[in-house]
Amino acid sequence: MDTPTEALHRVFGYDSFRAGQQEIIDHVVSGGDALVLMPTGGGKSLCYQIPALVRPGVGVVISPLIALMQDQVDALRALGVRAGFLNSTQDFGERQLVEAEFLAGELDLLYLAPERLRVEATLRLLAKGDIAVFAIDEAHCVAQWGHDFRPDYLELSSLRERWPDVPRIALTATATPATHAEISSRLGLDQARHFVAGFDRPNIHYRITAKSEPKRQLLDFLRTEHPDEAGIVYCMSRSSVEKIAEFLVDNGIAAVPYHAGLDARTRATHQARFLREDGLIVVATIAFGMGIDKPDVRFVAHLDLPKSVEGYYQETGRAGRDGLPATAWMAYGLQDVVQHRRMAMEGDEAHRRRQVLHLDAMLALCETVGCRRVMLLDYFGQKGAEPCGNCDTCQTPPESWDGTIPAQKVLSTVYRLARERRQKFGVGQVVDILLGKKTAKVLQHGHETLKVFGIGTELGNAEWHGVVRQLLAQGLLAVESNYGALELTDASATVLRGDREVPLRRDTLRPARAAKPTSGKSAPAAVELPEEVVPIFERLRAWRGATAKEQGVPAYVIFHDATLREIATRSPSSLAELSQVNGVGENKLAKYGEQVLETLTGPGGGYAAVGA
Ligand code: ADP
Ligand code: ZN
Repeated sequence: MDTPTEALHRVFGYDSFRAGQQEIIDHVVSGGDALVLMPTGGGKSLCYQIPALVRPGVGVVISPLIALMQDQVDALRALGVRAGFLNSTQDFGERQLVEAEFLAGELDLLYLAPERLRVEATLRLLAKGDIAVFAIDEAHCVAQWGHDFRPDYLELSSLRERWPDVPRIALTATATPATHAEISSRLGLDQARHFVAGFDRPNIHYRITAKSEPKRQLLDFLRTEHPDEAGIVYCMSRSSVEKIAEFLVDNGIAAVPYHAGLDARTRATHQARFLREDGLIVVATIAFGMGIDKPDVRFVAHLDLPKSVEGYYQETGRAGRDGLPATAWMAYGLQDVVQHRRMAMEGDEAHRRRQVLHLDAMLALCETVGCRRVMLLDYFGQKGAEPCGNCDTCQTPPESWDGTIPAQKVLSTVYRLARERRQKFGVGQVVDILLGKKTAKVLQHGHETLKVFGIGTELGNAEWHGVVRQLLAQGLLAVESNYGALELTDASATVLRGDREVPLRRDTLRPARAAKPTSGKSAPAAVELPEEVVPIFERLRAWRGATAKEQGVPAYVIFHDATLREIATRSPSSLAELSQVNGVGENKLAKYGEQVLETLTGPGGGYAAVGA
């Protein structure tokens, strides 16, 4: 049997453990229970895969993501790990085959859908074999009300009674303190050691930009920063998903839609294409993404405001799991605030209060003049981080300006409409009044006779929208739920009386391209490839694409981008040198080593002039 470090080198081909991994693995290998909170991309899988390899018996992994089991198992098999799964997608014959392998001790890892454990036959099967560890993946499923898999997950508490001597490790990336506590009690893990990894994703660049023409902004972003790269574009509604996907395709960008309104087969095909193809974009509602562990998602873009910071962090966390630079980009504007403020007024009182808290936190993140990452980490309980140098506000600190007088002008317009005319209007009319525009609607209502008519010519239309957006975000103005008309809030009075200043953030509608991060601390794990290495990388990528297609597996199952980049940069000339590359383990070296060396040499034979 290997030691954990030997397994890491030999099987996975990695140099060293990531933060937290070794401690967790040692604890589980020695028989201890663990509850692991680690951000997406932190490297949770190794925490149970290595104990499964190192301890005698089979590691049983409970995961709700049956659509992904085949890929997970393929990826492990490519490493030479003997893995199988049991779920409802298999027919009887396929299941029997896996069960026989399990009983014959021919498996290292067995993936199980949670509902399998409700079937007595499965429990009997497991009782006949030797189990190394139980891993409970996506453990937050047990804690979330209304979660599809919750009933099955609740049953998992019985594992302890049935297998008191087998260590259990529960893992999740979703971890507000309440969720954490509930996982612990529901799964009977209060005696387990709790490992809480830091929540930072340093290789993700965060950027939130003011929305002006979202489609054009998205296109610019994709073309200048992520051409031909895989990513997810989130939209709120099914119809905008369809529209944006179509728009991208019309502009020559490979994209497919994904939302709950599409039939199951289309959804499955689009998901499979996203996982398998290089550089495909999925335009999706939040129905897409859970458990997608494609390592090379290079960006996550939001065209609409997420409902909460938790949601935002979970969605953006799907970018850059491989540790290479990735971007979380969002365009956000006045209509987002109006719409969300209105939605937050639906439902009962308790629900409303919760919605408002979530929304306020999300809006504060959007409007902050400080480091986005500091704010995110603070939100998840990691206080006192240093400004990161890898977010938009760190790289281009937004100017703030004293918006007290413009704020008073907006508020007094709303006030006069209500007081003098008993009327309420939306943003458009209020801004037209401030700008002194004699539109048909202004004349129809006689608003040109209001005292505030034309008092706001010092700002333009877009700037006034920015002011109103920020007033809404700060709770100094409200929208009425039915028609989206503007209303004063209790806090408005303090501004109107001049008792309170209103600092505002100056919107930059066309910020420069993301600058390269400067601070070493949060710098991405890799920098851009030197120019002369790019063609070699592309050649390796083409080889990988062809090989993956031939074998019917996602490209990353062959090698990750990070590994290909390192191969391209180092340009090894022998198998021994190739084996030094991170991500090249024993099995892959034997399987692909020669082909990689040939690909490096290029079609003409003789070494390409790398660094020569
Ligand atoms: P999580 O499940 O926490 O989101 P994964 O287990 O999928 O994360 O790991 C994320 C990525 O990091 C994977 O591509 C994995 O191969 C890689 N990885 C994990 N541990 C290491 C390590 N010690 N060295 C290098 N790469 C690693
Ligand atoms: Zn920052």
